[in-house]
Amino acid sequence: MTEPASLQTPSGALHYPVYLPDATFGVVRGVDARDLQDCRVRAVVMNTYHLMQKPGATTVQALGGLHQMSAFPLPIITDSGGFQAYSLIRQSARFGKMTDNGISFRPEGSQRKFDLTPEKCVQLQFRYGSDILIALDDCTHSDDSLTEQKISVERTIRWAKRCKAEYNRLLSQHPRPVKPLLFGVVQGGSHPELRRQCADALLEIGFDGFGFGGWPLDSQGNLLTEMIALVRALIPPQYPLHALGIGHPVNVARCSALGYQIFDSAMPTRDARHGRLYTFQGQPTRQDLFQKDGWLKYVYIQDELHTKADQPIESGCDCPTCQHYSRGYLHHLQDLDDHLYYRLATMHNLRFMTRLTEKLGAGD
Ligand SMILES: [Zn+2]
Repeated sequence: MTEPASLQTPSGALHYPVYLPDATFGVVRGVDARDLQDCRVRAVVMNTYHLMQKPGATTVQALGGLHQMSAFPLPIITDSGGFQAYSLIRQSARFGKMTDNGISFRPEGSQRKFDLTPEKCVQLQFRYGSDILIALDDCTHSDDSLTEQKISVERTIRWAKRCKAEYNRLLSQHPRPVKPLLFGVVQGGSHPELRRQCADALLEIGFDGFGFGGWPLDSQGNLLTEMIALVRALIPPQYPLHALGIGHPVNVARCSALGYQIFDSAMPTRDARHGRLYTFQGQPTRQDLFQKDGWLKYVYIQDELHTKADQPIESGCDCPTCQHYSRGYLHHLQDLDDHLYYRLATMHNLRFMTRLTEKLGAGD
């Protein structure tokens, strides 16, 4: 069986492999929808957990949904918020709690308590007008105990069933010409048998695609390659797999080699704002990206050596920044802390990521 190269969504086809910048609150910081498309960004990820706090679901709806609000016409994936709620509660129990019914939380400085049940999570994503919804899951860290991992998997499966039921109910009430898609998230930490149990149960419930759940790095910051490969082996190839939160260029290439198609992370845009710009060293082929190291070279734009440099960030880059501006000018803009620096740097790193996925999908 051959895997499909794209998914049909209400906002058009989503071709793989694809990197999605994180537009957590409905914006990729510093750039607008036109800039994103100029960098050949084909989809973005927004976040249910953050959007329910700011600007709030009723405001998003009043502004016409996420696509109209942000003027971004291409597919939007909304993350369930399970990972963010988990991170908040893991930081301190006083911020909230997770029960079988769902997650309740009160972020620091907020007067309001929020409840995120599986049903509410799907309802919000429908109201936002998302193209790909992600089912609420109970996230863990790979270092958490076996008992915690077992609870997480059992809860993730129960929540996945409730999400699917709510998704079916809403679709039957509001039929659409092209239905939004629903992804399930495979949990299980570093335990192969739990990953298998979770994947089998989610496949039985039935989803349009799947995500690799849990923190994808070990305590030393290394990619959990074995588990990532195992989950790919557990999910039949006709289903796309989303490497949730994975966006370091080298990790994107590694996961692509393992058969993952969808990637998202705030790292490339955050690195751009902090002065770390990505360039290709040489002309790596797809096989080089899969097998070799050393093809990624950072340019630290604040470095004094760029003060009088009149060449672009990367001479082979076709991004709007490299077409018009020199390293020296970017160095100057960053020194001024001018807003234009953030936009131009972000556009370059975004185009680097889309060039990377174009190379990864180019065939041999
Ligand atoms: Zn560029």
